Amino acid sequence: MVENDIPEKPAQDLNDLDTGADALRHLLDRTGERLAGFISSLPDQPTDSSGLFDPKAEWLKAPLPNSPTDAEAILTFLFDEVIPAAYNPASPGYLAYVPGGGLFSAALGELIAGTVNRYTGCWASAPAAVELETQAIRWLAEMMGMPEGSLGVLTSGASMSTLIALVAAREKHLGEELRRGVIYSSSEIHHSIPKAARIAGLAEKNLRQVAVDENFRMRPEKLQEAIRADREAGLLPFFVCSSAGTVNTGSIDPLAEISRVAVEEGLWHHVDGAYGAAFRLVPELADALGGMGLADSLAVDPHKGLFLAYGTGALLVRDMAPLREAFQSTASYMPDMQTGEHYDFCEFTPELSREWRGLRLWLPLKLHGIDAFKESLALKRQLTLRAWEHLSAIEDVEIPAAPDLTLFIFRQRFSGCEAPEEDARNQALLEKINKRQRIMLTGTIVDGRFYLRMCILHLRTDHSRLDEALSIISNALKELREG
Ligand SMILES: *Cc1c(COP(=O)(O)O)cnc(C)c1O
Repeated sequence: MVENDIPEKPAQDLNDLDTGADALRHLLDRTGERLAGFISSLPDQPTDSSGLFDPKAEWLKAPLPNSPTDAEAILTFLFDEVIPAAYNPASPGYLAYVPGGGLFSAALGELIAGTVNRYTGCWASAPAAVELETQAIRWLAEMMGMPEGSLGVLTSGASMSTLIALVAAREKHLGEELRRGVIYSSSEIHHSIPKAARIAGLAEKNLRQVAVDENFRMRPEKLQEAIRADREAGLLPFFVCSSAGTVNTGSIDPLAEISRVAVEEGLWHHVDGAYGAAFRLVPELADALGGMGLADSLAVDPHKGLFLAYGTGALLVRDMAPLREAFQSTASYMPDMQTGEHYDFCEFTPELSREWRGLRLWLPLKLHGIDAFKESLALKRQLTLRAWEHLSAIEDVEIPAAPDLTLFIFRQRFSGCEAPEEDARNQALLEKINKRQRIMLTGTIVDGRFYLRMCILHLRTDHSRLDEALSIISNALKELREG
């Protein structure tokens, strides 16, 4: 550790609970050094060193720390032992699952918010901070093509956003009849939807999975048929969840068509845009995602498509009233709640106390400007098309559907090979690719068969890492074919 340029130990004890100004500068400086080192070494860090985790490590059994520990020793422990033992979602080679971001400016927003600790559950306790968060939500709604007047709430992620939307829809449409309510989604839906349904008290047998077409997109005519059949059976269809980018193949459902069915049949239309919604910023994709603006609610994950750190989701709605109906609750010891112009966030979600979540979204949007996000997302799309063209051209590589966004699945076919054996060989291919520690892909099962999955959404993935990825994959395929 180089000691130059780092302030001398301040007069105040670094371990005091109430950190003074000098101690704060010192701690920030030390932490900054570690973080800068982390960021600058990212291109060379392995993509998955979760294997470094030692289940027998001494620290797992550490007793209650009754007395202080040296700050430098804590930083060393975190950066040497805890942080490396993980997948590396901050790496440019992270093409696994749906990548998160790790924008430093969002982390800075979080640091400021936590330090000044404004109370943003209610408007009256921090009007300017709440208005700033409201502004960030309005910007987000505008970016996603929601109609003017749309707003929403920031959440921890799409699972929570979808749950909030579902509870609001349940209260609006079902009242006491919740066990007769029916929910529709496609067979490709994310598992957070059935989970939300269970938490919201809906009957599992009333979750319908509507069939998809050859591009894994929901078939609206099948949706309409299912709704009518359920109605005839005396059930209460009330909620349809479509996808603006499914987790398996990145497919975009025909959102406008589904909205039309929802309006005709009187259902709440919720769009799961956790992965895909942000691509509304890319001109060539804006049309396919245009239908998002017709929905009643939209889940967006800024911690995916806007490259923020994990823990920032958003629920955007055309109308806040159903959220208030579902979540409003007050007490004599609470500050006055505002009506009309101002928003008390605690009236629209299950939460009361909450961090000033808006700053970690507002600050990056303001600091970098929306064009920077547009360009970065357009680059991810470009990289994806390159990867798709490259892999499609390889002998016996099967890609069932062209990417709607920046995610596609592929596998190597082996002639005369039984399904289980072919699946096992593709599993081995995935392991071979990931073993190099330069890129990380994941796998999935589609139509009962194993596929490799590549999702290009990371902030730091660029042309050079993609070249490397394609060469690693091509070589692994070649080795596998040559046995
Ligand atoms: C990630 C994801 C979710 C769940 O979002 P969380 O933020 O992890 O709660 C839902 N749907 C899709 C398509 C996703 O990619």
